[in-house]
Amino acid sequence: MGKLLIFSAPSGAGKTTIVHHLLTKFPELEFSISATTRQARGDEENGKDYYFISKEEFLHRIAKKQFVEFEEVYSGTFYGTLRQEIERIWANGKTVIFDIDVEGGLHLKRKYQDQALAIFVQPPSLEVLIERLTGRGTDSEEKLKERFAKAEKELNYAPRFDVILKNYDLATACAEAEKLVGDFLYK
Ligand code: ADP
Ligand code: 5GP
Repeated sequence: MGKLLIFSAPSGAGKTTIVHHLLTKFPELEFSISATTRQARGDEENGKDYYFISKEEFLHRIAKKQFVEFEEVYSGTFYGTLRQEIERIWANGKTVIFDIDVEGGLHLKRKYQDQALAIFVQPPSLEVLIERLTGRGTDSEEKLKERFAKAEKELNYAPRFDVILKNYDLATACAEAEKLVGDFLYK
């Protein structure tokens, strides 16, 4: 059994940006590609950012018990981690890195305990989070509202994680993330 690095936060906090940065720095890491029923946005690619699958296929995979965890993160939109994804990465001798919502992150931490480091990415405030999410320009007004409402609740989950990583200034946050990951990989 290998190790797992979990990055969780409300949408817009910057976890995807930080995870992408870490993947360029640490060849020991491999990204856990989640399955989702949402549409690809911008330059996202199937099999790289997500496995984009239909709701029917998602439900079929739930019935077959293929997910380590899954959630209806937004109403009607499912996201989940496939057991075979973790096994594939460990078989390559790598540590799995996750970009996952707070409930999913805590679920994985409960399951894998000391094999996992669970990091909460914290934005300076809800206002800044809203600015970042709006500035990203990838979601409709309706989708944005749903994300803001969820984000407000999710900010309260921070103390339940192993570490809180402040993402105020991006370069500082990336440097701190590198230190955390280095300590976890080589301890
Ligand atoms: P998440 O994966 O948590 O939803 P993203 O990584 O997509 O968040 O970041 C949301 C937006 O905020 C992106 O447009 C990203 O470029 C921007 N961003 C991330 N971190 C910072 C930061 N420290 N300062 C300013 N903008 C940031
Ligand atoms: P987005 O649509 O912005 O890519 O992701 C929405 C939310 O779903 C984010 O908080 C993201 O981290 C989370 N997410 C992505 N993959 C998974 C997964 O496999 N399981 C769970 N529980 N959440 C996920």
